[in-house]
Amino acid sequence: MTVANKSIPKRKFDVVIVGAGGSGMRASLQLSLAGLNVAVLSKVFPTRSHTVAAQGGVSASLGNMSEDNWHYHFFDTVKGSDWLGDQDAIEFMCREAPKVVYELEHFGMPFDRNADGTIYQRPFGGHTANYGEKPVQRACAAADRTGHAMLHTLYQQNVKAKTQFFVEWMALDLIKDEAGDVVGVTALEMETGEMHIMEAKTVLLATGGAGRIFAASTNAFINTGDGLGMAARAGIPLEDMEFWQFHPTGVAGAGVLLTEGCRGEGAILRNCNGERFMERYAPTLKDLAPRDFVSRCMDQEIKEGRGCGPNKDYIELDMTHLGGDTIMKRLPSVFEIGHNFANVDITKESIPVVPTIHYQMGGIPTNIYGQVVVPKDGNPNAVVNGLYAVGECACVSVHGANRLGTNSLLDLLVFGRAAGNHIVESGLKGKTHKPLPADAGADSVARVARLDDSTSGEYAQDVANDLRNAMQHHAGVFRTQAILDEGVGKIIAIAERAKNITLKDKSKVFNTARIEALEVENLMEVAKATIVSAAARRESRGAHTVDDYADTPEHPNGRNDAEWMKHTLWYSDGNRLDYKPVNLKPLTVESIPPKVRTF
Ligand SMILES: Cc1cc2nc3c(=O)[nH]c(=O)nc-3n(C[C@H](O)[C@H](O)[C@H](O)COP(=O)(O)OP(=O)(O)OC[C@H]3O[C@@H](n4cnc5c(N)ncnc54)[C@H](O)[C@@H]3O)c2cc1C
Repeated sequence: MTVANKSIPKRKFDVVIVGAGGSGMRASLQLSLAGLNVAVLSKVFPTRSHTVAAQGGVSASLGNMSEDNWHYHFFDTVKGSDWLGDQDAIEFMCREAPKVVYELEHFGMPFDRNADGTIYQRPFGGHTANYGEKPVQRACAAADRTGHAMLHTLYQQNVKAKTQFFVEWMALDLIKDEAGDVVGVTALEMETGEMHIMEAKTVLLATGGAGRIFAASTNAFINTGDGLGMAARAGIPLEDMEFWQFHPTGVAGAGVLLTEGCRGEGAILRNCNGERFMERYAPTLKDLAPRDFVSRCMDQEIKEGRGCGPNKDYIELDMTHLGGDTIMKRLPSVFEIGHNFANVDITKESIPVVPTIHYQMGGIPTNIYGQVVVPKDGNPNAVVNGLYAVGECACVSVHGANRLGTNSLLDLLVFGRAAGNHIVESGLKGKTHKPLPADAGADSVARVARLDDSTSGEYAQDVANDLRNAMQHHAGVFRTQAILDEGVGKIIAIAERAKNITLKDKSKVFNTARIEALEVENLMEVAKATIVSAAARRESRGAHTVDDYADTPEHPNGRNDAEWMKHTLWYSDGNRLDYKPVNLKPLTVESIPPKVRTF
């Protein structure tokens, strides 16, 4: 075993960040500006991270266009989370929002402008004023390319601050010492196919979401949940993985996203009778009710035979009344997507849409400083030394059972920055590196060697496709207890097959099949976490709506607070589950007590 450590080339940094999306680059900027030696690893060039695809906006109660304040934002987020979000973290995020958005503006972010020069803000799902009374304009936007503008702004600032990027490097596993502290990661340089050890006083995971466990997804191909796989293999539980957000408006058949900003600008969902059906379900917010709610209403319309098209299997999004000028100014990418992916001119015709997997609410458990926390000696939130996580791979938990649109880009900025500050303030600079364990890297070497030495087995893409189809059916927007229970056995069986994946081409240089095989191992961890956690949660809450747990006087909307207002923790080892309480105590204000969600 000692051989592994000795034979692998090593590099040393103060901090190693895995992931160059919005969260990783917001954290690295804070660290580089403080003079720390920071390495950021990314599977793709930083500005190709999935953050680049974010369209609609980033939320902050600036009140530029309608009356707003952070208390309203706080209320909306707690309610949106269906009371599974931790109210300390939600207060922290909503209070910090204006600061981090203005900071981004000063970094050079090209937001759209109002006539008076202030940042343009559009309405979005579940964003309200006066505690649910009426829609508010809170989503700060750069047309429908907000993530693109943000990621480029952060990259430029990082280049200026001399952050070191390792582009096309894939992190494989966390390295822990005997005490269980994290002391680095192993990583594969894709160009050469060689393994390296990146030693660090602190490792920060910012690997983004894992939407690729589903067949129909708005997510990029690189969103394979690598950070979650790394954490799971290191014995760290994954939190609330049963909660996956379906975005109401993925282009039917293609999966590509049409931002909620479309409905923010006034687009309307219609069934086959041309009816604006959301008026029936959500009289106040209508098409701008939160995503879990709108997705379920669409599903209901389709199930009751009011879907559109020859097979009555989609809903139509109508933007024709917005006018060409507004569309070309506010939604230019949506216009292009309509043309390229649905052959529709959205200024003249409606576009077919279906709820499509979009975002994971769960992830690696952290506190509000981004430190990874696990249950230990009776403390549900004991800090893991040397390990932080931020962004979509983390669960802090601000989104609870359902995220509000534009709160993810905000989450990246707020917690990326907070984690950076916390690491700087921990006095890392003066500390020395803890020694690597003798067998550092042995697990990764063994994983890669198994692939390289394999002579028979299945191909990664076949196993991954079976997984995606099974997840789509067993953990989709429509869930029943029987479908979930059956899914558990199926997914665990597919995960077993992943241990037998073989490579046809064993070459090392830019061998993308080798990379994909390693990614599939991470997909399996995420899928198991999802299905096992989902089958165990015997209620409906937010995105996890199960037909068996329907609306009753005792449990309105199927939510059972007495038994289930708690966070799930899934451990890879034996698919074990544990639970921890939701924090209903904000930092400074009064708690928002659980209520039935209506819109
Ligand atoms: C189409 C789309 C539109 C969206 N629109 C909005 C919106 O308008 N507003 C909003 O708030 N949210 C939106 N979201 C959600 C939001 O964009 C994401 O949650 C967020 O950008 C994720 O950022 P991140 O920093 O966590 O990860 P990402 O931006 O996904 O970056 C992950 C990084 O990790 C790297 N990485 C992963 N694995 C490894 C590994 N093993 N080794 C090395 N590097 C690795 C990748 O290369 C990448 O650099 C949208 C999401 C999608 C998919």
